[in-house]
Amino acid sequence: MVHTIVKLQLSITLSFIAGAFKVLGGVLGGSKSVYVDALTSIANTMSIAFIYTFYKKSLEPPDQDHPFGHLRFAFGGPIATLMLYSFVLGVVVTDIINAFGRPYVITIQAPIYAAIGMAFYALAVTFSKGVKTLSIYYAKFTAIEFLEGLATIASSLGGIFISFWIDYITATALVLYLAVELWSSLNEITYTISDYSQVEIASKISSYLSELGFEVKRIRIRRVFGDMYQGDATVKMQNPGDRDTSSLIKKAEEEIMKKFKADVVLKLE
Ligand SMILES: [Zn+2]
Repeated sequence: MVHTIVKLQLSITLSFIAGAFKVLGGVLGGSKSVYVDALTSIANTMSIAFIYTFYKKSLEPPDQDHPFGHLRFAFGGPIATLMLYSFVLGVVVTDIINAFGRPYVITIQAPIYAAIGMAFYALAVTFSKGVKTLSIYYAKFTAIEFLEGLATIASSLGGIFISFWIDYITATALVLYLAVELWSSLNEITYTISDYSQVEIASKISSYLSELGFEVKRIRIRRVFGDMYQGDATVKMQNPGDRDTSSLIKKAEEEIMKKFKADVVLKLE
């Protein structure tokens, strides 16, 4: 466990250093594209810290304040990510608009610092391997970050030797890409928390209930987070005879919890 925390901190620190070098490339080297990439890298690193913090909180068992458990605390991660990237969007849009049509000089420091930043980022990815939640996250972003890194090295070189416009247009493209990503993340997050119907798991639970001799009249299942579900079902007992229905119901609820990770309340009609 201590090992994991050390790897996590190391990885986040290395990511921060990577971002800091890119900021140097953007500011000292005068490259707009490296600057945009630098700020998104820093937002990315801070997001990882938020995602990890909220994820840890989400693992706490149910308590008096949170009778359904704390799983949905994990949404704090993606919401914090939206917040951080939105802040960056505001900063870079202002910068790009202010610089429009004004030629600027890019120096060789821009591609050099950007390349050093990429090397530190590669190290951060390596150290994230041992941290499960982190490596999943990095796997998603590594490709994008590396492509962005390569693009900004190329565009700042183009800005030095050909025209500042190459750097400016790349920066603008990165800003637009960021806006599109933010919009699609917002839609994804809101849809995920909208309790949309879980057809597949609901039909599995229904057929399990019929195996147990219940006739399912109505079933509602929602995803809480990850592979954890909640819901209710109205059932009818076929030929109950003189069996103890309430203990059968209780047993079925427990089995559904074990088999499907679903907290389903059964109501007998
Ligand atoms: Zn609580």
